[in-house]
Amino acid sequence: MDVEQEIKEFISSLKISNDGSLLYRGERMVFTTSVLMSIAFTAAPYDKFGDTMRTVYRRGISKYCREIAKENAHLGAREVFENMLKFFGKLGWGRSEIIEFSDAKIVFRVYSSLYGKEAGEYLKLRGIQPMVTCPFGYAAEGVLNYFAEKEGKPPVISEEVKCAAKGDAFCEFIVIR
Ligand SMILES: [Zn+2]
Repeated sequence: MDVEQEIKEFISSLKISNDGSLLYRGERMVFTTSVLMSIAFTAAPYDKFGDTMRTVYRRGISKYCREIAKENAHLGAREVFENMLKFFGKLGWGRSEIIEFSDAKIVFRVYSSLYGKEAGEYLKLRGIQPMVTCPFGYAAEGVLNYFAEKEGKPPVISEEVKCAAKGDAFCEFIVIR
């Protein structure tokens, strides 16, 4: 299924509750502009708090995705990871592609990252040094470290090596043990 179909299927499965909330599988969703999401979630916090935000995001996002991995543990690391990237695509955060998936190293790309391009414009406008801004690597850490711990393997750590916020054509993440 391509990402366009995935998004259409996602939209058709949204429900509206009696109080007017938009729900997907019981979880509340919101529609907002990409510029708001991008600046509120990445550029502005990095502008104000600097690299401290990376620690906050790493902890929070990886913890959340670890829970998702735990709930879907029967599917195995690769499938849970792939499903998570597909879900991010459905939410409109950018289409992903896995370039390498081995025990020691995972490389994946996100095209048109919601958190990248507009954050880059904001940083430029504020005269801030271009930097990587996307949180997908922390999500990968959450999923993969759940399985690493379960299988008695060393933990993984991610690094965003290319980012739309720095002017790269796509965002690329390397996850190594
Ligand atoms: Zn990025």
